[in-house]
Amino acid sequence: MDFSLVTGLSETAVSSKRYLSGIAKMFYDEGAAAEMLKEGDSLVYEFYELGVPEEAGEIAFGASITYPGKVGKEFFMTKGHFHTVLETAEVYYCLSGEGGMIFENPEGDVSFEEFRPGVAVYVPRRYAHRSVNTGDAPLVTFFAFRGDAGHDYGTIETKGYRKLVVEAAGGGYELIDNPKWKGE
Ligand code: MN
Repeated sequence: MDFSLVTGLSETAVSSKRYLSGIAKMFYDEGAAAEMLKEGDSLVYEFYELGVPEEAGEIAFGASITYPGKVGKEFFMTKGHFHTVLETAEVYYCLSGEGGMIFENPEGDVSFEEFRPGVAVYVPRRYAHRSVNTGDAPLVTFFAFRGDAGHDYGTIETKGYRKLVVEAAGGGYELIDNPKWKGE
């Protein structure tokens, strides 16, 4: 997808792509992921950054595209992260697609906010955040956060999220406990 067409932002944005092979262990149904990988390696999400200096007085911004798809019953999602500077917030604005953002803080409070075009979602400080595409089209969001916030992916890579977003029996989505969660 051409970022500049989606957002109208700079054509100099740098893209990072995350394929299923690199994040398969984050989905709870690793068997389903292995079966999918036999057919090829799906692009699950990508994000674009504008190279703003990583300093407290700056606002880093860019766009995230989470593609539609599922691993077993679990919807395609981003890895999710805390900010290295935990006390820094962020805002996401949904440009197209549908889905949501799942949050959790170190104390175990969990919440979910829906994305649809034109909706802004605020990420409170201290909360890990992960985008989930529950629809049939790419979920495209614009994001902005304090320039020096940094990204802590390791905590989620190690422990996982407490809750996962899966397809519900009657359609739509539901949150379930993560059977692979390795918290306290
Ligand atoms: Mn963030």
